[in-house]
Amino acid sequence: MTTDFIRAASCANDYDPDSMPVDAARKYIRNYLTPVNGLEQLPLRSTLGRVTGADILSPHNVPNHDNSAMDGYALNADDLAAEGTTRLRIAGTAFAGRPFAGTVEKGNCVRIMTGAVMPTGCDTVVMQEHVQADGDHVAIGSGHRRTQNVRRAGEDLQAGQVVFPAGHLLKPADLGLIASLGIGEIKVYRKLRVAFFSTGDELVSIGQPLAEGQIYDSNRYTLFGMLSRLGVEVIDMGVVRDDPQLLENALLESSAMADVILTSGGVSVGEADYMKQLLNKLGQVVFWKIAMKPGRPLAFGRIGNAHYFGLPGNPVAVMVTFYQFVRHALLVLMGQHDPAPAPTLSATCVEPLKKMPGRTEFQRGILFQNRDGAWQVRPIGNQSSGVLRSMSEANCFIVLPTDCGNVAAGQPVQVQVLEGFV
Ligand code: AMP
Ligand code: MG
Repeated sequence: MTTDFIRAASCANDYDPDSMPVDAARKYIRNYLTPVNGLEQLPLRSTLGRVTGADILSPHNVPNHDNSAMDGYALNADDLAAEGTTRLRIAGTAFAGRPFAGTVEKGNCVRIMTGAVMPTGCDTVVMQEHVQADGDHVAIGSGHRRTQNVRRAGEDLQAGQVVFPAGHLLKPADLGLIASLGIGEIKVYRKLRVAFFSTGDELVSIGQPLAEGQIYDSNRYTLFGMLSRLGVEVIDMGVVRDDPQLLENALLESSAMADVILTSGGVSVGEADYMKQLLNKLGQVVFWKIAMKPGRPLAFGRIGNAHYFGLPGNPVAVMVTFYQFVRHALLVLMGQHDPAPAPTLSATCVEPLKKMPGRTEFQRGILFQNRDGAWQVRPIGNQSSGVLRSMSEANCFIVLPTDCGNVAAGQPVQVQVLEGFV
């Protein structure tokens, strides 16, 4: 892997690392991800947001028996006259969970409730609204179809069928579906361990006073939030000063504990050479200037057995690079097979946008519906990559592709929805 990685990293005949297109960087990263190995067997309720570690097979048919989809009368379609009215005797009642015990003889029917097992001898249900009851008899008109209103055994799932393949990220509906099979425990991938730290002499952790020129470290909190949403095990390594020995210690300590290391800051121009030397000494890392805004510098590689992402220091750039590169990679590392990209839709931009061709821009926007229900988007006023407030206010990224220039008001743009997105 090492030689491949370095060869591809030089990108000599491929892409210029000083102007790496977003998609090319994504593809490159995808080729060098090794998902966690290690499974654990967990009770169903503990598996929300985890990834299935083995195929889940249906142990039986769902539903288990043919049953009624309606409140009505179960009967044998052979008993119904082709034309005119048929009179049948009501032999008993079938409730959901309390079947009719006997066999239904010719000329008889059974009062049946939704979900009740179809009585032996019956193949059809007529809705109660289409029947005239008269004591222990019913009168039924013609025009009914054999097997109507009957839910077939195995209609949802057949015994032995793969309900979820390995590599499936479990949602609330999935827990319900697995419970409907009577399965109480499943195998999932163990949690991915992600260690992260901030770099910078100017950074101070909250709880301490600020001296002149210092700022509070916010990146560790946005990273904590984004990582927690993904359901990984979060290892906060704190703030590390721009000191080679301290950085080396933090990287080595992280690589011994975690599957993935994220750092913020220290990979931009001026600082890059310095981090570069250290990272090259400890592992195999490539440094890109991505053709995007914000989030130009990005480092990617391995330190020991851990995957490494070196994110920019700017608070907005940290979030943009996380959503555009790291999130997908972490899902793959968590064991998910082919994670879905961020939901994207087309919206009309209600204000003009400034944009230079030659790079992909992720402008922060507010997506809303106009009175007719059409999706529109307004850019946040201050698009500076240091203004974290823009991310707080935004509910979407306006994605402006490489070739696109300025956008006039009223033009359609592509929007990545952040609401509810992890
Ligand atoms: P750097 O990439 O280290 O040059 O940082 C770029 C900018 O982001 C500088 O203005 C830093 O002060 C700021 N920055 C870096 N790390 C953090 C952090 N953890 N929290 C807030 N701002 C940061
Ligand atoms: Mg710095």
